[in-house]
Amino acid sequence: MADAVMEPEVLVIGAGPAGLTAATYLARFRRPVLVADGGEPRANWIPVSHNTPGFPEGLTGRDMLGRMRAQAEEYGAVIEAGRAENLRPVEDGFEAELNGRTVRVRAVLLASGLQDHHPDLPGVDPAIRRSLVRICPICDGFEATGKRVAVIGNSDLGIREAAFLRTYSDEVTLFHIGPPEALTCRSELDRLGVTLLEGSFGGVTLEGDRVRAISWGGTERAFDFLYSALGTTPNCKLARSLGARLAEDGRLEVDLHQLTSVPGLYAAGDVVRGLNQIAVATAEAAVAATAIHNLLRQRDGMTVRD
Ligand SMILES: Cc1cc2nc3c(=O)[nH]c(=O)nc-3n(C[C@H](O)[C@H](O)[C@H](O)COP(=O)(O)OP(=O)(O)OC[C@H]3O[C@@H](n4cnc5c(N)ncnc54)[C@H](O)[C@@H]3O)c2cc1C
Repeated sequence: MADAVMEPEVLVIGAGPAGLTAATYLARFRRPVLVADGGEPRANWIPVSHNTPGFPEGLTGRDMLGRMRAQAEEYGAVIEAGRAENLRPVEDGFEAELNGRTVRVRAVLLASGLQDHHPDLPGVDPAIRRSLVRICPICDGFEATGKRVAVIGNSDLGIREAAFLRTYSDEVTLFHIGPPEALTCRSELDRLGVTLLEGSFGGVTLEGDRVRAISWGGTERAFDFLYSALGTTPNCKLARSLGARLAEDGRLEVDLHQLTSVPGLYAAGDVVRGLNQIAVATAEAAVAATAIHNLLRQRDGMTVRD
């Protein structure tokens, strides 16, 4: 077990799978680490994950986060509810505000995730928690095998997700709710075997454990699941304010060690450009935590000199 908690050396921003994994690694490297937990991680929405390595029977997001949190705390990581604000560089590190006080650290890991753009439908939140409305075909497309699937989108992302879901289903319908010109590759839909419906969106009726009907211009169609392909907004305001380089999709660019373009500022998980998956978030967090530990060892003259 780690010694009694000292001033944190590392601030981890975000207590989702990425932040909690990094906290475990850093604590096991005997680095005093403080995790700012802004609440409601995306992982908390997962009804049951079937692709998380090591859990063949599946597990809920809540269960996963509980296990990860317990593991980090076991080794002395401090997890504090609250949002880190006003991150700024200072000599040899960073300062940030957390719950009205200033936290000074030597390095920061941003594991702040992203916001999903949920469809504007009544009852959408409970429907996501029940897996009727879904966000991520890579996560749970397998469970849509042989089902009637609808995708709601407002851009070419809708076409891409509908095409992806054809791996699993012969009955995929895309509801395009954006302007017509936002679909630039609509000619692909026939070839891909995806039905396109456009116009103003009528609504969704949830009955029992199915999306029973989506009314569209007066007609009704029944689906087993509705996938939302309305995009996301990365939570990278703090990194942006430090001038960190962003990719075209607004997420953070990092190097092979998860270092952003700002020295000492690392990033992992959904806030980073790449695949939004737990396995990826935890792998990136392991890489980032190890890089941070090695950076601090180097600064302290504790690495072998060539
Ligand atoms: C419905 C659903 C089902 C999914 N199913 C699967 C699945 O089966 N398999 C799979 O691999 N992936 C799945 N995913 C994706 C998975 O949840 C994400 O890839 C994963 O949660 C990313 O982890 P993260 O730590 O980067 O971000 P998150 O889990 O989103 O955590 C980020 C945290 O950072 C916090 N934060 C942001 N800013 C601040 C701040 N300034 N201060 C403090 N805290 C802050 C946020 O509040 C949040 O708590 C699913 C996602 C959803 C929505």
